[in-house]
Amino acid sequence: MLAKKIYYTFLMSFLVLSLVACSSTTPDVAKNDVAKEDIEKEEKKSNEVHTAHWSYEGETGPEHWGDINPDYAVCTNGKEQSPINIETSQVIEDEKIADLDINYKPTGFSLSNNGHTIQGNPSNMDNSFIVDNKEYKLAQFHFHTPSEHQFNGQNFDMELHFVHKDANNQLVVLGLMIKEGASNSYLENAWNVIPTEETTEDVKLTKPIDLMRLLPKDKDSFRYNGSLTTPPCSEAVKWVVLEEPIEMSKEQIDKFRKIFPDNHRPVQSLNQREVKEKD
Ligand SMILES: [Zn+2]
Repeated sequence: MLAKKIYYTFLMSFLVLSLVACSSTTPDVAKNDVAKEDIEKEEKKSNEVHTAHWSYEGETGPEHWGDINPDYAVCTNGKEQSPINIETSQVIEDEKIADLDINYKPTGFSLSNNGHTIQGNPSNMDNSFIVDNKEYKLAQFHFHTPSEHQFNGQNFDMELHFVHKDANNQLVVLGLMIKEGASNSYLENAWNVIPTEETTEDVKLTKPIDLMRLLPKDKDSFRYNGSLTTPPCSEAVKWVVLEEPIEMSKEQIDKFRKIFPDNHRPVQSLNQREVKEKD
């Protein structure tokens, strides 16, 4: 920004000087027009970069995501957006829903801080999740605070999202609520090296994470059709939200909140959708 200002000031001084130094002959006018065009181009480019930026507060916050960029329009006008508030009394029991078929293995991860969250990136594609007879592979996991989904209007302290993709890039996200309680030993290694600043290179963890043991014992879950909870808010995302939360200590939660005090999108309208659970 400063560099641009200096450049702009320099260019303007140059233009003024050249106008003073020379009489306004035709070639000079042409030259000035080119320079003006350059400035305008520069400004347009800078605005484009600026409008692609989104955040969790103020002018680039969740209420404005749909206006920031045409590619984010569905954030505002989509009808199947996430997260949602899950009213447990409204959930439909469905006997056709199969048990969760999660096949996670102890896996090496590296961490990145993308300016919106801390993300765990697996070193292989061996972690699978079978939903409606289709296999999805774990692409990454990341965190939000407070939780994005609500149960009966209540947020949890944090929420963990496991993002899976199938061969056609269709997405299934497994959501897991986190509440304050005992220290979580399965995330300790990651939390020790959590990148506090935006990363250009991932931080490699020295020990694998056993994701299966991170999950709660009770795997009852809510299912619904939703979207990504960050721009571009793309829909056709299958959501599986585990009902039983896991715990992290106050210290662990505070450590995350020091980096991201609030990185959650508020709940969206359910519209015509149904939330189901296994009968
Ligand atoms: Zn998420």
